[in-house]
Amino acid sequence: MPEHDDTHRIPADTLRGFIAAIFAAAGCAEDEAGRIAHYLLSANLAGHDSHGVIRTPRYVIWLQEGKVRAGQTITVVNDGPVHATLDGNYGFGQTIGPLAVDCGIGKARAAGLAVIALRHSGHIGRIGDWAERAAEAGLASIHFVNVEGGELVAPFGGVDRRFSTNPVCIGIPGEAGAPMLLLDFATSLVAEGKVLVASNGGKKVPEGSMVWPDGRFTDDPAALYGPLARSGPRDSAQGEGALVAFGLHKGSGLAFMCEMLAGVLTGGGTSGPIPGGKRGRISNGMLSIYLDPQKFAGGDFQARARAYAEYVKASRPVVPGQEVLVPGEPEARMRAERLTHGVPLQAQTWAAICATARSLGVAAPG
Ligand code: NAD
Repeated sequence: MPEHDDTHRIPADTLRGFIAAIFAAAGCAEDEAGRIAHYLLSANLAGHDSHGVIRTPRYVIWLQEGKVRAGQTITVVNDGPVHATLDGNYGFGQTIGPLAVDCGIGKARAAGLAVIALRHSGHIGRIGDWAERAAEAGLASIHFVNVEGGELVAPFGGVDRRFSTNPVCIGIPGEAGAPMLLLDFATSLVAEGKVLVASNGGKKVPEGSMVWPDGRFTDDPAALYGPLARSGPRDSAQGEGALVAFGLHKGSGLAFMCEMLAGVLTGGGTSGPIPGGKRGRISNGMLSIYLDPQKFAGGDFQARARAYAEYVKASRPVVPGQEVLVPGEPEARMRAERLTHGVPLQAQTWAAICATARSLGVAAPG
């Protein structure tokens, strides 16, 4: 794909191979490089470009700076029949995430439920990937996430950053072959990555997504990143403003509780204060609850869940001719479309990834 052509789409397999080659050249073992590429691409396929391959340059810098570590595994800090506290040792979230989820799956299958407190994981990307992994094992799951050292979001009524974008995710498994229900969103009005995409000339974020220090609301990515160069890695420490939580005091309260559950209860740490105001390493904390429906409602849980989802979808649309979607449906549709037609990438995103690849001696696909 030409570096400055934003009309092209790149086939999913080609993109995955390219991203894997970059991480392998950056020092990751082949299997880890493949996992990172797989999960970044998974976010693009779901339509969440903010958490997709656009992260590659930033991840490589973090690796080079020692802020994320290749080749890590989890350390079990506390362990019981239905709970565990796990430390990710600042390993790649794409390696640590599946290990933590599999720990929860194992315990929930045996006991009916499990609570897994994960701390010090490298960026775990799109949280829906973890709920999907649990759903593939037949489990419902609930995830509360924070970002230690990643203050970006002002609390309701404030202008100073106190929270990170703290996503919440709930997954409900589908019947064999049927789609699952997946609620997965940041508690900020927009995820930071959506501002990142907008800063590269992509889809604008809604007015009022950010607030300047004087209390004026804005859609200007400079509030988060400071004055913008045309391309290259963005640094959210450079902006003087803050993201705003969704839903006034409700979203702000949910973000607050993510700090309590994913930051304090896991022992990982809250989003701030950042010592000396100078950013170092960021890491994700995640409190996850896994539930085996068979041990609660019994056999027909999935059928009843599907019947209710169909009832919700049957609500008459606000706009005639449009339809009501259920959580997870937009992502499933986008995945099908992008697997068929390729993943669209903005010119600046592609140029930044190619620059990273070049710096590591990796050739871009033709
Ligand atoms: P979003 O605002 O796009 O909301 C997505 C959710 O809303 C999905 O569950 C989707 O199915 C549902 N949805 C969307 N349109 C719908 C419609 N018309 N009808 C019904 N449901 C609909 O998501 P976001 O806040 O931009 O978050 C994007 C991603 O960023 C998420 O995957 C999240 O996990 C991730 N994230 C990660 C971190 C981290 O630290 N790792 C931080 C923040 C966000």
